[in-house]
Amino acid sequence: MAKLTLHDLGDADLRGRRVVTRVDFNVPLDDQGRISDDTRIRATLPTLDRLRETGARVVLLSHLGRPKGKPNPAMSLRPVAERLTELLGRRVDFVPETSGAAAEQAAGSLGDGEVLLLENTRFDAGDEANDPAISEALARLGDLYVNDAFGAAHRAHASTTGVAEAMKRGGKRAAAGLLMAQELEYLGRALDQPRRPFVAILGGSKISGKIDVIRALLPRADRLLIGGAMANTFFRALGLATGDSLVEPDRVELAAELLREAGDKLVIPEDVVVARALDDSGSAQTVGRDAIGDGFRALDVGPVTRTRFAGELARAGTVLWNGPLGVFEEPAFAAGTEFVARALAEATGRGAVTVIGGGDSAAAVAVLGLADRFTHVSTGGGASLEFMEGKELPGIAVLSDREG
Ligand code: ADP
Ligand code: MG
Repeated sequence: MAKLTLHDLGDADLRGRRVVTRVDFNVPLDDQGRISDDTRIRATLPTLDRLRETGARVVLLSHLGRPKGKPNPAMSLRPVAERLTELLGRRVDFVPETSGAAAEQAAGSLGDGEVLLLENTRFDAGDEANDPAISEALARLGDLYVNDAFGAAHRAHASTTGVAEAMKRGGKRAAAGLLMAQELEYLGRALDQPRRPFVAILGGSKISGKIDVIRALLPRADRLLIGGAMANTFFRALGLATGDSLVEPDRVELAAELLREAGDKLVIPEDVVVARALDDSGSAQTVGRDAIGDGFRALDVGPVTRTRFAGELARAGTVLWNGPLGVFEEPAFAAGTEFVARALAEATGRGAVTVIGGGDSAAAVAVLGLADRFTHVSTGGGASLEFMEGKELPGIAVLSDREG
């Protein structure tokens, strides 16, 4: 069933209403406590603009870092309120409480179009514990709940699910924000109604973390391209030597099973870039997958594989990419990821739908300056992975169904 989103709510639903809005302001801070990247704050601006323009009164909730249920000044949201004030061009009040009387008082005195930000939800252990008392306290702050924090949607916390349930019990509604709605639309459409051929690219470090994604994508995708360290476990399944490469010995049988099941749908690398160590780029060389020597480790996909992958992307109607194809953090082993990212950007240019999920994958395309060359780059790392696995995310499941 489709979920209610902010797109479905008219001005009359919002004007003068207090809207408890869960956002993902989990921004990186430098050692001076300054915000080093405000992408996540900017990503919420469409929702905040829409709420303000309609005269809603906005109460913002977010977590930041892992304060483990205790106040920690180094993880205060105060600097975020200051940055948001600059971005919105109007004052955002900061209330140094996570809920309770002071928060209710502040929420109650908001005027139409005004915004306040409460302190880090995770300063209270009740958030991650999904404590009903905290959920009720948060629900008292507003007339409507909006969740725009896709990155936290795979967690059942008081600020993501408990508050929504409490609101609904009180006859109020819970809706997806505009960023959340965009995530659901692009990830959902890529998985459920892909324009074909549908090509999935999976990389990253471990098969074990992505096995459910492989299983979920195999029946849907026309091709599944494998890179990154997980390719090594497939090499082992073919009986090949892998030197010192990262391998998951307890997943070799599983990899063999997937190869049998998938036939030529599953494409594993033909060649790799190997080196003796990550910091020994002098020893780097390209070899066939059947020629990984003793003492060497596979750290990137080779040029034959890159070209093969690019050929698949050139024909694709939809591409879903999760996981870098090599150790992209090291320039000597970044070429595979970069080549494929560029081929994917070109595919977007000729009309393919291209979606990137996964925290490190998003970081890789950002470093390459390509982030705006894809149809959609998910803001949720773990959440996008669980979505691709076909799991129901609690923060989404709890939202009100769309009426009519
Ligand atoms: P995402 O966050 O996009 O889901 P992962 O967390 O699964 O991606 O994997 C990213 C990590 O995988 C990167 O830090 C990268 O260095 C590592 N990686 C990729 N290829 C290899 C390889 N051949 N050997 C070791 N690590 C690799
Ligand atoms: Mg990762």
